[in-house]
Amino acid sequence: MRKPLIAGNWKMHGSKSQIQSLIDGIKHGAPHYPHAEILVLPTFVHLDYVHNLLSHTSIQLGAQNLYLGTQGAFTGEVSGCMLTEIGCQYVLVGHSERRTLFHEDLNLVAEKFKAAVTSGLKPILCIGETKDERERGDTERVISDQLQSVIQLAGIEAFREAVIAYEPVWAIGTGLTATPEQAQAVHAFIRQLISQNHIDIANTMRILYGGSMKPDNAASLLAMPDIDGGLIGGASLSAESFLKICAEVPK
Ligand code: PEP
Repeated sequence: MRKPLIAGNWKMHGSKSQIQSLIDGIKHGAPHYPHAEILVLPTFVHLDYVHNLLSHTSIQLGAQNLYLGTQGAFTGEVSGCMLTEIGCQYVLVGHSERRTLFHEDLNLVAEKFKAAVTSGLKPILCIGETKDERERGDTERVISDQLQSVIQLAGIEAFREAVIAYEPVWAIGTGLTATPEQAQAVHAFIRQLISQNHIDIANTMRILYGGSMKPDNAASLLAMPDIDGGLIGGASLSAESFLKICAEVPK
């Protein structure tokens, strides 16, 4: 019912030659995994290049960020409709690196989510707690605040095509991974929060796990009933490791 999504967040990585060999490798392997939807999220400057490399494939394209509105005096920013025009289907919203390093607060993240939907993009809303918040027993409160702020501003109908990525901040780029049981507990909590607003959307919405997902831990995470794929940073920069994760998606 929910087609698993394996998404590669390349962050600020990649030269054109590295990207060409990475895409060649992913294109070669992707047809072996038709039960997974595969998505790559390059930097803004590489989107058009990757879009051309992906033509005649089923691999999806997304951006890592967007700004509000369609155009205007916002030096350095890119709008959702520019991303749609260039061939993006998805966009990340609220990645923890944006919340922390670029000071994106709950309201801006919610505005960006709404702007993505308005532009015809599928937002991947990233939410997750820090190590301190988990240790204080605040995980559910943080997740709830991050989700409710978006539901209040954008409305639950805006979640129909959306994806949520649960990314514990302490697991991103650290080599630490949530155990399958820890991740499943939060995923189930997220689905239950959504179901309080809309049962159908809760049942069909994909919730990805992100945070040091690698070929050797992917199978046990992806086997969990509420984990519908992965948002992968480091391991998405090698076609071999990215495809090994795709191979772990349950059929
Ligand atoms: C991410 O950037 O969303 C991420 C999960 O990174 P990593 O896989 O490197 O932890």
